Amino acid sequence: MTLEQFKNQWFVTSTYFRQSARSCLYPPTCAMCGCASDTQLDLCTECHDALPHNSSACSQCALPLDGTSDKTLCGQCLNSTHSFDKTFSLFQYSNPIDHFIQSLKFNGKLRFANLLGNLLADALSDRPPESLPELIIPVPLHSSRQRERGFNQAVEIARPVSRALNIPLNYSGCIRSRPTIAQSTLNKSERRSNIRGAFAVKRKINIKNVAILDDVITTGQTVNELARTLKQHGVQNIEAWSIARAE
Ligand SMILES: [Zn+2]
Ligand SMILES: [Zn+2]
Repeated sequence: MTLEQFKNQWFVTSTYFRQSARSCLYPPTCAMCGCASDTQLDLCTECHDALPHNSSACSQCALPLDGTSDKTLCGQCLNSTHSFDKTFSLFQYSNPIDHFIQSLKFNGKLRFANLLGNLLADALSDRPPESLPELIIPVPLHSSRQRERGFNQAVEIARPVSRALNIPLNYSGCIRSRPTIAQSTLNKSERRSNIRGAFAVKRKINIKNVAILDDVITTGQTVNELARTLKQHGVQNIEAWSIARAE
């Protein structure tokens, strides 16, 4: 472990410790309504049911579809191919999910990684175990971004998913080898060139079925580029998992 990885791990561990100590002293409190939660998570049943679930979505890229149609692919996926094979995004990127994710990323509120990861795992636990991937790879951040933030939100969301579904997590075998500009600030063609060649596989991945995990999928170009890189290294089937899908 490098000094940088040690510092990041220490930041995450100490923050978890403080946040866990608080939750031992006090019962789970709903992150939305502030009431004592009637579940094991920081979310009560009523507020959970009101979340913007992405229930009618394109099976390949998870773009929300008109719920009245029996289409399974969006227009874009009918006309183009991706390096990932399918996508599961639990929520639409709207209130309060956008607030949870921003609080996690920009204010270090790691309790939201635990909450969102457990919600994702719970939704995926309906699937037969044999249909689940054999490995989870969180989308890596460049070391400079990770140093600045202190943690990678995709890794922190992936931890409870890995634990709950009993799927190993690999967060060091693949790196973001060069810094990229935040995709949200670029137009479509700039996003493609910004992310092209941004990932590198450091250690051989002898696994056929992999899930890439990210907090939010917007155009899908980041997960597509990571999937392209992984397929060049022998991975055969790639699912993209995210907490939210933005349009
Ligand atoms: Zn509530
Ligand atoms: Zn699609």
